[in-house]
Amino acid sequence: MALVTIITFNHVHEAELARTALEAEGIEAIVLDRFAGERLFGNSPGGVRLQVEERDVDAADAVLNRMAGVAGAEEVTPSDEAPWQPPQTCPSCGALDVARRQKWVAFFIVAAFVAAISYMQEATLLGFFIVVAVAVFVLVAASWRCRACGHTW
Ligand SMILES: [Zn+2]
Repeated sequence: MALVTIITFNHVHEAELARTALEAEGIEAIVLDRFAGERLFGNSPGGVRLQVEERDVDAADAVLNRMAGVAGAEEVTPSDEAPWQPPQTCPSCGALDVARRQKWVAFFIVAAFVAAISYMQEATLLGFFIVVAVAVFVLVAASWRCRACGHTW
């Protein structure tokens, strides 16, 4: 059975890690010096190859991809994920100490108040329109407030 190089590494410990993972799955693999082509036991500045038997290539690939997936998950690079969002900063003074305004809490307090008043005044339709108007106002109102300078946006 011919041996096939399935992956190359810069460091022998990486190749050994991959070999251990393959052997745990019952796939026999050997680590070779990339240039000398000899069985390697120490470190190799030239890089190392991991070889498996030809019939094991697909299975070995699956194991290595799984390994790479786990390693990739631990090392999230900005390019494969959504771009990193900087924390909201104040557009006026640049402070990071900004707070999202609890607009809807204020809205529900106002809405309840308007509903109560309009019910008592038997003007529920007017009350309804006032609540709608307040909702529109809340939607367009500033969402952020700077704790440093008081700027809102
Ligand atoms: Zn500010």
